[in-house]
Amino acid sequence: MKKRTFLKISSLIVTGSFFTPPFLYRPDREIGSNWAGNYYYKAKELHEPERIDQVQALVEESEKVRVLGSRHSFNSIADSPEDLISLKNLRPEIFIDRETQTVTVTAGVRYGELARHLQKHGFALHNLASLPHISVAGACATATHGSGVRNGNLATAVSGMELVTADGELLSISRERDEEQLSGSVVGLGGVGVVTSLTLNIEPTYEVEQYVYRDLSAKHLETHFDDIMSGAYSVSLFTDFRNNTINQVWMKNRLDDDIEFRAEDTLFDARLTDRHMHPIAEISAENCTRQMGIPGPWHQRLPHFRMDFTPSSGDELQSEFFVPREHAWDAVAELFKLSDRIAPHLLISEIRTIDADNLWMSPCYRQPSVALHFTWKPDWPSVKKVLPLIEERLAPYDVRPHWGKLFTLSPRVLQSRYEKLDDFKKLLAGCDPKGKFRNRFLEEYLYT
Ligand SMILES: Cc1cc2nc3c(=O)[nH]c(=O)nc-3n(C[C@H](O)[C@H](O)[C@H](O)COP(=O)(O)OP(=O)(O)OC[C@H]3O[C@@H](n4cnc5c(N)ncnc54)[C@H](O)[C@@H]3O)c2cc1C
Repeated sequence: MKKRTFLKISSLIVTGSFFTPPFLYRPDREIGSNWAGNYYYKAKELHEPERIDQVQALVEESEKVRVLGSRHSFNSIADSPEDLISLKNLRPEIFIDRETQTVTVTAGVRYGELARHLQKHGFALHNLASLPHISVAGACATATHGSGVRNGNLATAVSGMELVTADGELLSISRERDEEQLSGSVVGLGGVGVVTSLTLNIEPTYEVEQYVYRDLSAKHLETHFDDIMSGAYSVSLFTDFRNNTINQVWMKNRLDDDIEFRAEDTLFDARLTDRHMHPIAEISAENCTRQMGIPGPWHQRLPHFRMDFTPSSGDELQSEFFVPREHAWDAVAELFKLSDRIAPHLLISEIRTIDADNLWMSPCYRQPSVALHFTWKPDWPSVKKVLPLIEERLAPYDVRPHWGKLFTLSPRVLQSRYEKLDDFKKLLAGCDPKGKFRNRFLEEYLYT
């Protein structure tokens, strides 16, 4: 563990910047809502520091503080009862180390910017989420993932991180030196400290081609779930849970992969499409990444949505549940049985796979998983009634919800499903003894 010199507030006073900080909250400014507009932050002040020493001073001064990422979570996980810090004004820095095949990136940077930079210099990440507009730190904090039976979630790429701890000190940890601490801190749910930079493993750039098949009878999943999901580097199934059908199968084939992929005209009873598709077939595909086998760089194929299309907000709600991959079909079959209850409130559902990892608070901790995602119509009263039904049906498979999405699982049940929870709490007690980074979400789900 390496500690950097802590810049005292006194030195800020000497330079005068403490009295004229450009980042202090102005009472007339509203903090506003998350991306989906379903949650309004209740914090009293939003700070937008421009330098790390300002972040340190803020953290040291504050009694309760959290970091706000790019606001893509659907629940209150990012909120704070007192202070919120946004790192969006920190100077973005991306440093590629060719020798160690890593990139170090300031925490406010979004995957889209990082991916473009890496591609320009001949490098790539192992995977991306459906949307490239999410901040790297915010995504890792909640175990954000893409798909692929051999692909861990995005946080599994983290080999080092720098963070401001509760006393305002800058702490640097790496997998090499601090294996345990890093495994506990990466999916930190915002509770470990203010992550100021992350070091991620990278690899030489690669190309991906994408094919979409339509109308796969769900019954084929029963006997062939693993074959289908491991048929390409990253595979996503989209369904509205009507008619026992998977509406679309998106297969992303990595060209330098050792999986031998051939784009046949059919996949069981599903047909290869000859036009670009949106996951909801009725919507124009102009914002979606290119399909029909047109090869392109990894960052323009792994996300479903294009980098140059920036949805500033979305009329939708999202939930996602993880179950062990060995129970994938049973879990999906349970959801089809709930079709009448789910379908009326659904925009679309997506089924993905994620490899096991070693990150304490990851829903895929030591467990290859399948993720059952729901994009709901923005009608919380109705969604709130459906979620307990889904959670109940998936209970036999020890279902775990996505930390950044909507769920109704009780804290007691949630806690029972994280075997490293006690270790995580010990870690938090060590780096944040007074609970400065604890908000209502953490109090409720980790400590109640
Ligand atoms: C349209 C859309 C598509 C999505 N697609 C996917 C997907 O494909 N796969 C998936 O798994 N999820 C997906 N998500 C969920 C999303 O990835 C997560 O909610 C993610 O955490 C959002 O990151 P953010 O930067 O917006 O962070 P926020 O939502 O702002 O915050 C999330 C958490 O990160 C913490 N945090 C943020 N920055 C820091 C920091 N610097 N230091 C310490 N803590 C920090 C916050 O305190 C909070 O606890 C999607 C969400 C949306 C809206």
